[in-house]
Amino acid sequence: MKKKFKIGIIGAGIQGVCNALFLQKKGFEVILFDRDEPGRESASYGNAGHFSPYASLQLNRTDILTDVPSMLMSSTGPLALKWNYVPKMIPWFLKFVMNCSKKKMMHTAKSMHQILDLAIPAYDELFDEIDVSSLVESKGIMYIWNDKDLSSRELEIKIRNELGIDQKILNPKEIHDLEPNIKPFYHGGVFYSKARHARNPKKILLKLFEHFNKKGGKFLKLNVPDIQFDNEVSIVKSETQEFIFDKVIITCGAFSRKFTSKLNEDIPLETGRGYHFHFKGFDHLLSRPVVFANRGFGITPMEQGLRVVGTVEFGGLNNPLSKSRIKNLVNNAKYMLDGLPEHDDEWLGFRPTLPDFLPVIGPSKNYKNIFYCFGHHHLGWTLGAISGKIISKMVANEKTNLDLDPYSSLRFS
Ligand SMILES: Cc1cc2nc3c(=O)[nH]c(=O)nc-3n(C[C@H](O)[C@H](O)[C@H](O)COP(=O)(O)OP(=O)(O)OC[C@H]3O[C@@H](n4cnc5c(N)ncnc54)[C@H](O)[C@@H]3O)c2cc1C
Repeated sequence: MKKKFKIGIIGAGIQGVCNALFLQKKGFEVILFDRDEPGRESASYGNAGHFSPYASLQLNRTDILTDVPSMLMSSTGPLALKWNYVPKMIPWFLKFVMNCSKKKMMHTAKSMHQILDLAIPAYDELFDEIDVSSLVESKGIMYIWNDKDLSSRELEIKIRNELGIDQKILNPKEIHDLEPNIKPFYHGGVFYSKARHARNPKKILLKLFEHFNKKGGKFLKLNVPDIQFDNEVSIVKSETQEFIFDKVIITCGAFSRKFTSKLNEDIPLETGRGYHFHFKGFDHLLSRPVVFANRGFGITPMEQGLRVVGTVEFGGLNNPLSKSRIKNLVNNAKYMLDGLPEHDDEWLGFRPTLPDFLPVIGPSKNYKNIFYCFGHHHLGWTLGAISGKIISKMVANEKTNLDLDPYSSLRFS
């Protein structure tokens, strides 16, 4: 059975759903595929809920390589490895090292800033059409640290100043005034007042998804193992059916690489695995997300309770959840706040991560009717709407007034 539709999107995480909505705004007919119900277990469900327009300096930075060994050895630190995955990680890691020069660090920071700066206005174009008033808070995001680590904080603050990002350095009293329940171990902090946070990322995703359906979009819960090509058309295949599209967008997050390999492109997509759990009913302890920078983890007050989120673990898509990482996060949370109960809902998720910490947004190298929108690493939640808006303009052959070269897959050719 063959059916003819306009645009197929594979993957209904935040990227897929935002792509679908912006394409609908341009009048395209869209079918969205996912092997799962939208927002069930994906990264778009379990993230920390930060809308972080300030976060342009990424992990490929000049000071990171000297810090990595101590971060890996530390029992409280943010980095972890699954040792059975180390041989597979080596090519990615070598590329990452090449991206830690000052020049590459600044290229990533400027290119991220270009789209991060547009991220919240792009969401507002979508949020104006649905009611998310109880689900999105505009109380800013706070980072705190103890002075041991001040030099790396100085680099971030300096670059963000250079990029014109709104930030306010905080002294201990100001931190206490903002979040009085945090134990006073900190020496300083920074406040990003324009950042927002999600009270429940899954509910926001589902509201956007329902809106897509209301506007005539179609969702098919199907695993897509294959895409094929026949002259100008793309054929999306499930186990039992074939669908013919004029254009296809791949938004499978960390799982996108199998498609790019089929399209004869070697894109070094890996995953930075991250964890969360909840302290149910304790969200009253914080008013906004707080990140403890030295230990690289954060706590967000959500409907589910306090969501503790952290760890960048290199270990691929198939290794199981690491109990030791959960334990590390529980200890870190208890270092920060008194009176926490037993935790619930342990979750492992996959950040889609490229070695230059830039996403891939744009047409595939070999097939002009296939578009990529993945690899948004720590910022895929923040960048959902703006990435969808950019792809919708590319598909409609409209100008964006942005320099899109930094996001092209051609950078890996
Ligand atoms: C612990 C953690 C905390 C984070 N915190 C933040 C944060 O605070 N702020 C922020 O901006 N970002 C954050 N991120 C990053 C952000 O969550 C991700 O970058 C983003 O959710 C990726 O969205 P996506 O739509 O590309 O992928 P996903 O959400 O992973 O969705 C991909 C979808 O594709 C589907 N799929 C895959 N393969 C197939 C197939 N073959 N056929 C059909 N369907 C398929 C999957 O089922 C899935 O639903 C965090 C990530 C993690 C892991």
